[in-house]
Amino acid sequence: MTNEFALTLVLFAVYVIECIFLPSAHASLFKCSIRGRWRVSLPTSPITSTYRIVVEGLLPQLGSVFVSEPAPPLISPSGVYCFPGRADTGSAKYIDFADAEPFLSKDCTVLTGSEVVCSSGSAQQAQLVSELLSKVKASESTRRDALITADFQRMLNTQRAARRWRAYQKAAGFLSLGSWTMFGTLVALSAMLAVFRFQAVAAWPLAILILIVIPHTAYVFYRVHLIFFRRKVGDRWKQIVLMFLTPPACIRASDFIAHELFAGFHSLAVSRVLLDDVESRDFAARTLREMMYPLDIGAHNDSSEGAEWAKGKWMTVVWEWMEHEFGDPRQLIDAPRKATAGCVCYCPRCLTQYLFLRNSCSDCPGITVKPFC
Ligand SMILES: [Zn+2]
Repeated sequence: MTNEFALTLVLFAVYVIECIFLPSAHASLFKCSIRGRWRVSLPTSPITSTYRIVVEGLLPQLGSVFVSEPAPPLISPSGVYCFPGRADTGSAKYIDFADAEPFLSKDCTVLTGSEVVCSSGSAQQAQLVSELLSKVKASESTRRDALITADFQRMLNTQRAARRWRAYQKAAGFLSLGSWTMFGTLVALSAMLAVFRFQAVAAWPLAILILIVIPHTAYVFYRVHLIFFRRKVGDRWKQIVLMFLTPPACIRASDFIAHELFAGFHSLAVSRVLLDDVESRDFAARTLREMMYPLDIGAHNDSSEGAEWAKGKWMTVVWEWMEHEFGDPRQLIDAPRKATAGCVCYCPRCLTQYLFLRNSCSDCPGITVKPFC
């Protein structure tokens, strides 16, 4: 095996590794298919690992995976009510602000002392949650409601998400030139390997091209990253160093920015930006049904006053958001049309229809079915 052959193999291996993305297991993801259609992928519950493994498309494209956030932790004016394991299982815990140690974030996790408060989809959201908790803890009880409401509304701010998306589309266009040039060079190198048995002399023009593309892409990346993630200096430079050490990293430059573009936004707001009207409406309806008919898994005594307040608050903010985006939310949770004339009842959560009267849905523990009117 010649050195050149080995080098090309290494470059390809680096590129394939660059296509693997490891978001937090708590993140909701929006993935783009090769045909350019967006799909939502919610975290599976129960969550067993820290990260998910996502393999992106091999062709350079304008961002293919976006992180968005699950519902925020249940914050009430008196304390925070949370599921350290997140999702529907795991033991729930209530932490009173009066007893809480300072709130901090580490990666995607929010901590108080040595206790895990909750996990977010992104480090950025974990930081925002810990800042909010500190602010609520320090403020007077009369101001706490407004602080929490404003934070929930921030997560659902569709206009802000849409502005961010438009700005990203514009900026990423500049990065696509470098991505495609680098990708083409890599393909040409491998073609030479296959057809001409790799002659180092012929590779020189390609090597020169690579030397021009890297600094150009790194510079554009620096400028674009600065616009969206001003505070993430470390991440920025780490990626730039990676581009110089392993040139195929340049191909994924715009993906790197895309991943956390919507960090801090709830998946509802992102769905409104990325999905079309019909799909985002379906997604909103599904989210609302799941919120109104939560599964009864395990036994957590989350019926405390603080938990009820927090659930009600999040529900109110989501309800208002839906009213603003789609009109009366009640029409989103209407009874479905009968699949066949013989159906007598349906599950209000998953919309499965049944031909015989029964009490509960076979797929949704604890959900009572509803008869068709
Ligand atoms: Zn069901």
